[in-house]
Amino acid sequence: MIPKEKIEEVKERSSIVGVISEYMPLTKRGINHVGLCPFHSEKTPSFTVNEAKKIFYCFGCNTTGNAITFVMKKEGLPFPEALRSIARKYGIPVPEERSAAADSREPLYQALKLAVEYFSREIKAPEGRPGKEYLVKRGFDGEIASRFHIGYAPESWDGLALFLRKRGVAMEAAEKAGLVIRKKDSSGYYDRFRGRLIFPITDSRGRVTGFGGRALDDSALPKYLNSPESPVFKKGETLYGFYQARQSISRENSAIVVEGYFDLLALHRYGFTNSVATMGTALTPEQIRTIKGHTSSVYALFDSDQAGKNAAIRSLGLFLDEEVTCRAILLSEGKDPDEFLASLGPGAMREAIARAQPLMEFFLKELKLKFDLTTPEGKRRYLDGAMQYLSKVRNVAEKGHYAGVAASALGLPPEVVFSELKMPVGERRAGAGERPSRAREAGANLAEFTILKVILKFPALLDEKVEEAIEAFKDPDLKRIGVAAAGTLKGGKALDAGALIEGLGDERLSGVAAGIIFKEDDGFIEAPERMLEDSLKRVLNKGKLKESTREMIQMLEDMGISDVASDIKKRTAKTSSEK
Ligand SMILES: [Zn+2]
Repeated sequence: MIPKEKIEEVKERSSIVGVISEYMPLTKRGINHVGLCPFHSEKTPSFTVNEAKKIFYCFGCNTTGNAITFVMKKEGLPFPEALRSIARKYGIPVPEERSAAADSREPLYQALKLAVEYFSREIKAPEGRPGKEYLVKRGFDGEIASRFHIGYAPESWDGLALFLRKRGVAMEAAEKAGLVIRKKDSSGYYDRFRGRLIFPITDSRGRVTGFGGRALDDSALPKYLNSPESPVFKKGETLYGFYQARQSISRENSAIVVEGYFDLLALHRYGFTNSVATMGTALTPEQIRTIKGHTSSVYALFDSDQAGKNAAIRSLGLFLDEEVTCRAILLSEGKDPDEFLASLGPGAMREAIARAQPLMEFFLKELKLKFDLTTPEGKRRYLDGAMQYLSKVRNVAEKGHYAGVAASALGLPPEVVFSELKMPVGERRAGAGERPSRAREAGANLAEFTILKVILKFPALLDEKVEEAIEAFKDPDLKRIGVAAAGTLKGGKALDAGALIEGLGDERLSGVAAGIIFKEDDGFIEAPERMLEDSLKRVLNKGKLKESTREMIQMLEDMGISDVASDIKKRTAKTSSEK
C-alpha cells in the first residue's frame, strides 16, 4: 500500500493541467482549461479542467476525476501505477511496492530505453557500417536519423542480450518487451532484431514502446519486422512519429497520415513535419482519436493502386464516426511518398495536398464506377452503398451536399435521397446527450440543487440548518452528494472537489457532482446568503408542512372526522401536484 500522505503529496504537488497536457492540448478559457474530450466523440471542446479544484469534468459525457484517475482511464493503469507515473513526472519519490503486480511495466520501459542506446551506439560502430551505408543510400541525413533515433541491430545473436544483462536488465523483462527471444532449449536468450535498421517507436508521451526493423537486403523476409504486442506496445493504438509531429499538427491544424517508416522520414525531411505513420496496418479508431486531440483535419496518403483505394474507402467510416475530416491524396504514377518526394520534390507534394479531395467525394466517385447506373439493379446497389456512409455524416450541410451528389449520379431528384436518409432513426447518439444537471434544474429539485451549488462554492455557509435540509432532500442523488459534501466540509474546511468526487465512489454520481461544481454561477454569486436562505426555506418548510398535515389528517381520522380528513387529503394532493 502507498501511504495516504504520499497520495496526498502527489495530488498536492502535481498540476492537473500539466498532467493532462501531456496527453492532449488544452486551451485556457477563463479560470478553466478546455479541450476535446478523449472519452467521447465531439467537435467542440466540452472537456474542462480546473487547476484550483484539481479536477476535470466533461459537459458532454459527464466523465470526471482528478489527475490520477485521468491517467488511469487514459492508459488503462491501476491506481498505484497511475500515481507513480505522475509522481515520477514531478520527481516525488514513492516507496516501492512489495507486491509483484505493481509497476509491472516499468522494467519494460527501462529495457526499451536501454535498447535505443544500444542500437544508436551500434550504427556508429564499425559493425554498424552496413546500416549506416543503407541509411545514406536512402538519402537520410544525420539530422533526420538523430531526430528519430534511428539505429542498427548488428548481425549478432546476443549483442543486445549481453548489453542489457550488463546493465542489470532482467531477461524476463527484455523478453516481455519483445527485445529477446527465449531459446527452445531454455538455455538462454537471443536478440529478436539482427542485421536490421532500427526505428524506435514511441508513444504519444515520447516513451519508447517498441521497434520497427528494416532488413538491409530486399530479399530478406520479412522486409519489416515489428516488435510483438506487449504490455507497453499496442500497434493499433500507436502512430509512428506522432511524438515528433504533435506540435506541428497543432500548429498547422492538420495531420498527414502515411503507411511506412521511410515515407514518414521523407515527409519530415522535406518539411512536412505534421506527418505520422501507421506502420503498415489499416487505420484504427484509436489512432484517429490520438490525432483528433490535436486537429480534426487529416490528409491520408494512399497508394493509387486498387489496394490503396480500398484502404482509403475502408477508413471512411472511421473518420465519419470520429467526426474527423479526411482528404485523400493519391500520388500519381503509383509512387509511394518517399519515391514521389525524391523524384518530384516538395513543391509537387504541396500541390498534391492542395488537390486532395474529401474522402466522401472520392468514395462516391469510386462507387459510381463500380455499378452500371443505367440499370435499376445498379442504381439500387449504388444507393445502398452510398447510404451506408451518408447516414453517418453528422453535419447537415455536408450531408445535404453529398446526398445531392448521390442523387445526381442516379439521375433522381435530391428529395428521394433525402427521404431515404431520414429513415434510419436513432442517429442521435446516446450518452452524449443532455446534461443531467440541466434536466435536474428544470425539475422540482431546484431548491435542493441551489443549496448544493451555494455550499460547494461558499463552504463557510454550511451550518446545521443546511445539514438538516440536506437530510430532507427528496432527490436521492442530490442527497448522497450533499451528505458527502457536508462530510468533507465539516470544521470550516475548504472544498476538496477531488476528494468529494472520489469519495462518492460511483461514476454516475461523481459526474452529477462535478456538473454542479463546474456549473456557471447564474448570478447567484452576488447574494449567496439570500439564495441559500430561500432554498432552505423551501426544502425545510415543504417537509415540515407535509409532516404537520399528515399528523393533522391522522388526528382527524382518529377523532372520527374522516370526511374533513379526506377533504384535506384531496386538497394537499392537488396543491402538491400543481407545484
Ligand atoms: Zn466527454
